[in-house]
Amino acid sequence: MATGKAPCITLNNGRKMPQLGLGTWLSLEGEAKEAIRYAIDIGYRHIDCAMLYGNEKEVGEAIRDKINDGTVKREDIFITTKLWNTFHEYDQVVPTCKKSLENLGLDYVDLYLVHWPVAQKQTEMDPRKPFGKTEVIKHDFTETWKGMEECVKLGLAKSIGLSNFNSKQVLRILDMAKILPVTNQVEVNPHLNQKKLTKFCKDRNIVITAYSPFGSPARTWAKPGQPEIAFDHPTFVKIAEKHGKTSSQVILRYLVDIGSVPIPKSTNKERLRLNLDIFDFKLDDEDIAAIDAMNMDYRAVPALDLMESDEYPFKNVEF
Ligand code: NAP
Repeated sequence: MATGKAPCITLNNGRKMPQLGLGTWLSLEGEAKEAIRYAIDIGYRHIDCAMLYGNEKEVGEAIRDKINDGTVKREDIFITTKLWNTFHEYDQVVPTCKKSLENLGLDYVDLYLVHWPVAQKQTEMDPRKPFGKTEVIKHDFTETWKGMEECVKLGLAKSIGLSNFNSKQVLRILDMAKILPVTNQVEVNPHLNQKKLTKFCKDRNIVITAYSPFGSPARTWAKPGQPEIAFDHPTFVKIAEKHGKTSSQVILRYLVDIGSVPIPKSTNKERLRLNLDIFDFKLDDEDIAAIDAMNMDYRAVPALDLMESDEYPFKNVEF
């Protein structure tokens, strides 16, 4: 069995998570499967999925192909998926987790996340959207968390965690949790380095998983003139030259060096290779300070459609 290329970190429940994962949002039908098989071949051992992405079946098939051909054993690969906002009722959580497992063709996931602290309900079918048209509704996410804990008790998920929770929302979970969240998966990149939330979570033994490490350049809501992370920015280029690496590798290494677990998405073989090849160098204090200075607290993923909710995580709170 080939071992993974990324070292593992130990979560607060003693389980291990590889310190770099593969994102699968916008991994389109037809390309996701080949990309994931290739990723596992070259040493990826951590794959980030979600019911929302609409590709759990394809991603699961690729993972099972690699288990069946002996490249990996199930226990050597760390699979995450997420509970979508329309399934936050306590008694919806276990069936929704089971549905994701059925899609993936797996008996368990390593990590099950509450995708957002905001609950929504479907108002109409809409074939262009995976869960139709939706509106935000009031719902207490601590009830959702009790359902997440059931998933662990039933063996459907080895660990559970949060995504897009702000510091106050994390505390509300910690106040009632019988099973602690192992991670809070949030946007982290050089424009939004999340230093405060990372320290806050680290102090409580919660790891930050860094989504959109490159600022999600393919996001569908991008508008001209918005800040984009430029790989040809002189700061990245200079640091990259110093270490004999690329700017994209410098960005991912920065995220590892500031204590997070990046999950870059790619379906391109060359970029899949580059993104994993970041564990043979380390940034020095000067490099880190130069990239820290690029922070502008700019969110590429503001989820504006959730803004009406009292639980919208990005308002009325410092971090
Ligand atoms: P990202 O990883 O910041 O960027 C992905 C984009 O960058 C793709 O268009 C990819 O194109 C390109 N890319 C990848 N590697 C590159 C490289 N080395 N050089 C140049 N371009 C490169 O964006 P993301 O997909 O938003 O975030 C990553 C993952 O985080 C998602 O896939 C998803 O799993 C997760 N996520 C979670 C949430 C949440 O709410 N929890 C939200 C957003 C994302 P190619 O494929 O053509 O290489």
